[in-house]
Amino acid sequence: MPRTAEYEAKQTKAAVTKTAAYAALSAKTPIEPFQFERRAPRPNDVAIEILFCGVCHSDIHQARDEWGGSIFPMVPGHEIVGRVTAVGSSVSKFEVGELAGVGCMVDSCRVCENCKEGEEQYCNNPGCTLTYNGRDKNGEVTQGGYSTGIVVDENYVLHLSDKLDLAATAPLLCAGITTYSPLRHWNVGKGSKVGVMGLGGLGHMGLKFAHAFGAHVVQFTTSQNKVADAKKLGADDVVISTDATQMAAHAGTFDFILDTISAPHDIASYLHLLKRDGVLCMVGAPDAPLSVPVFSLLGRRASLAGSGIGGIRETQEMLDFCAEHGIVSEIEMIPIQKINESYARMLKNDVKYRFVIDTASLKNGSVAG
Ligand code: NAP
Ligand code: ZN
Ligand code: ZN
Repeated sequence: MPRTAEYEAKQTKAAVTKTAAYAALSAKTPIEPFQFERRAPRPNDVAIEILFCGVCHSDIHQARDEWGGSIFPMVPGHEIVGRVTAVGSSVSKFEVGELAGVGCMVDSCRVCENCKEGEEQYCNNPGCTLTYNGRDKNGEVTQGGYSTGIVVDENYVLHLSDKLDLAATAPLLCAGITTYSPLRHWNVGKGSKVGVMGLGGLGHMGLKFAHAFGAHVVQFTTSQNKVADAKKLGADDVVISTDATQMAAHAGTFDFILDTISAPHDIASYLHLLKRDGVLCMVGAPDAPLSVPVFSLLGRRASLAGSGIGGIRETQEMLDFCAEHGIVSEIEMIPIQKINESYARMLKNDVKYRFVIDTASLKNGSVAG
């Protein structure tokens, strides 16, 4: 809708909500208690009481400013699930009391080619508004889900099934869609041989989806203690990626490999596992460039690709697919007070397989917890 002066004036008069949260105040300090104000719902907004929020490795990259350009104070969190507490006068898709989810973006231009095609994550104008560590159309800094509530335009809010465990649904909003989208885009299914690199939050969802789509799935991991779990989660085979003999046994056999590794690593040893015309798709976002041996690509007409989260329409499709097939994340629930410990454990690959914050731990009357 047009943002008239009258409309803007009404908004500034409307009530804002004091919100308890945890935030990074700088790149060098731990996440700590914080309080801020959420905007009053605008006509198209949905206000959501946050019940659970997943902890993504992107939260660590951004809270520590590993990608550059971080905005502080920063309330991380983009795997948000909760219940609608209020709706603006023009909202038609949600009702008070309904479950609702919010992922990595809360707005986009809506008129560029990518937005029109439902790929808002690739908005050209100038980019989608990230759920946190972003700026909205009014220049306000966005704040994420390590908090008690959020206010989001209904077009960027997802419907959740009450058939699934709610806390275990939260990671679907980022880890789920980020792995579902490329597997769908490259038509992974029956007859495909698929590799998943890294068994963390994204990796275990990629494994579950590739298995559910009927592919033959090989999980690559550096962690011996995850082998049995990988098989339970759907891997037909598990390869310890540091073992050259195990790696060589798969040379030239993969149609598609999904790289979810969070730190700089050697992709050369995976590129030669691709078949002719195979694709290695990066979703992991290490903070330093990777080195690409071009002969590994041209020797098999291979593609090195990348994929970022997924559009709103596809995120809803993924959530509906999960509801139909009973797919959720494997989680370890934490109170917000354990957030810094959970970051330290993720950095040691000690996550099985997603930490999820129970935001009741923020609501005990004190933000100091
Ligand atoms: P995570 O839960 O910490 O999992 C990462 C896994 O990568 C680890 O558990 C480990 O698996 C493996 N790993 C870590 N360091 C490694 C190293 N040095 N060498 C080899 N393997 C290593 O992280 P996540 O939340 O899944 O996120 C993964 C990455 O995806 C992050 O960089 C994140 O920012 C990015 N991301 C991108 C998008 C997107 O839109 N493209 C969206 C969300 C997240 P093993 O123990 O099995 O070896
Ligand atoms: Zn994420
Ligand atoms: Zn756009």
